[in-house]
Amino acid sequence: MTLNDILLIGDPRLYQIAEPVAKEELSDITPKALQLADVVQQFRKTYGAGRAIAAPQLGIMKRLIVMNIDKPIAIFNPVLYDYSEETFEMWDDCMSFPNLLVKVSRHKKCKLRFRDWDWNEQIWDLEDDLSELLQHEYDHLNGILATMRAIDDQSFKWRM
Ligand SMILES: [Zn+2]
Repeated sequence: MTLNDILLIGDPRLYQIAEPVAKEELSDITPKALQLADVVQQFRKTYGAGRAIAAPQLGIMKRLIVMNIDKPIAIFNPVLYDYSEETFEMWDDCMSFPNLLVKVSRHKKCKLRFRDWDWNEQIWDLEDDLSELLQHEYDHLNGILATMRAIDDQSFKWRM
């Protein structure tokens, strides 16, 4: 998979709800998860940004997020909960619209429950950067793009 395989804004698949991953699928989906990690790395080399990707962005309609900041981390069947009341505004970006920035509001903290590579349950406390990142990726699993969370009509900016 390469950057050319990333679905771009407007593709109907980006607006669909992804299906849960079953434990029995793990051996089939693990190689795809590694490919997703590779695409994140390719993206960062090209654009200098990009920490994670959601499987639907490559047309894999499964509830899977892959982070690749220093090492590949698969996040199967994530659930976000316990959102903090405190929020913050930020200019968000997305591999599905690489040069567009969108101002959104995100929760400062939340919790993440998911299955890892070995299908063990993990619970993480997320804050700041990781909190907004996972809120963004989690939205992809529910067919929501950051553009749909724009704060107002002027919350769009072209990356120069
Ligand atoms: Zn995105």
